[in-house]
Amino acid sequence: DTPELYRPLTPEELGTRLSAVPVIAGRVGSDPSRWTVKEVGDGNLNLVFIVEGPQGAVVVKQALPYVRLVGDSWPLPLYRAYYENHALVRQAERDPGSVPEIYHFDKVQALIVMEYLSPHKILRRKLIDGEMVEGLGGFLGRFCARTAFRGSELSMKSADKKKDVGLFSGNVEIPAITEALVFTDPYYDAKMNHHTPDLDPVVAELRGNPKLKARAQRMFMKFASNTETMLHGDLHSGSIMSTETESKIIDPEFVQYGPMGFDIGMLVANFLMAYFSQPAHRDAAGLEPYQEWILTIIDEVFASFETEFRTLWENERTGMLYPAALFEDQGQPSGGICEDLLADIRTDALGFCGIEMHRRTLSLAHNADFEDIEDTQVRSRLEARNLAMGAELILRAGEFGSTASLLDLARQFN
Ligand code: ADP
Ligand code: MG
Ligand code: MG
Ligand code: MG
Repeated sequence: DTPELYRPLTPEELGTRLSAVPVIAGRVGSDPSRWTVKEVGDGNLNLVFIVEGPQGAVVVKQALPYVRLVGDSWPLPLYRAYYENHALVRQAERDPGSVPEIYHFDKVQALIVMEYLSPHKILRRKLIDGEMVEGLGGFLGRFCARTAFRGSELSMKSADKKKDVGLFSGNVEIPAITEALVFTDPYYDAKMNHHTPDLDPVVAELRGNPKLKARAQRMFMKFASNTETMLHGDLHSGSIMSTETESKIIDPEFVQYGPMGFDIGMLVANFLMAYFSQPAHRDAAGLEPYQEWILTIIDEVFASFETEFRTLWENERTGMLYPAALFEDQGQPSGGICEDLLADIRTDALGFCGIEMHRRTLSLAHNADFEDIEDTQVRSRLEARNLAMGAELILRAGEFGSTASLLDLARQFN
């Protein structure tokens, strides 16, 4: 029989089209007339359906051949689902339990069937709503450390790593979005940009600073040409789903090999944006404690990243880099060498962090933390703090050896 051509799913058709997939029938129930299907995609790119039946529920994520946020004037290859699936498989290996379980992948339909995370809620929404999540910083820091370390030649065999870099190098159009929207567009009057009008003078100042733009380009060069490890590539608070006590990471379609500091830098930027946006979302009594809680999360992210990375350094250095033959076997401990590497990763991370803070307020895809603020005067005042701190981080990324100094800077701009 002829394979079915790609067609986007609809809630009406999903039952008949997917009822023959054994893992779905097995998990949801074999009679699709008893399934209820809801499209819940709130991201910028893909369709996401929750399929519920008498036995249980699954999530079906399907790529669209264009950017959902913009429309079919901006085509985008379906192959991203293929890379997302490969990324999820590797993340599940490198940090077990950190991502939804994958039940089924269909390359032609560009769809992934996965575990339905419930009652999980998108972390960005929780941060806007002032909700706390136990263990969040530790989980995120460990995820970043384990994926960074285990996806690099600190751990992998050279041949395996090269093969994997080759595989993911086919994911071209998706990283191109990051290349434009994150690293380039904020710093000139790009066509799809938008920002809150009152920010004009601040924006002019940023774009008028060649040193800042040169730093951002230097970080861009690292992002584009360095293949240290497999990145999630889009690790913002909208790619994390949490309950009060458990978190999972979703949506790695922006996967590529890149610098170890990228994911953690993006992540911290999103906590800082949550922090700066809080005055618009909390009443006076709740504001300071919740803002301080966000800062403790940033502290925990870095602390657990570094602790976990040190542990992996001691126990899993099985790749070609920094072999024990050069150090421990010659009676020379390598703990200090690991610390130097961690310092470099932190510097990279804070550079990427500053750039992410800029692009979410100046480029195409903004975040709800600020975008939900209806009063544009309030919004621009808070966004200006975010932009100013972002600039400091880009210019002085290497000066925050302790997380405390980073958090103090945030308090100064608040
Ligand atoms: P996009 O690539 O379009 O951003 P996401 O993978 O981020 O798509 O998913 C979009 C939304 O769908 C998420 O914000 C979340 O609300 C929901 N979602 C995605 N995956 C799951 C899941 N496994 N369980 C429950 N909800 C999910
Ligand atoms: Mg998403
Ligand atoms: Mg996505
Ligand atoms: Mg150094």
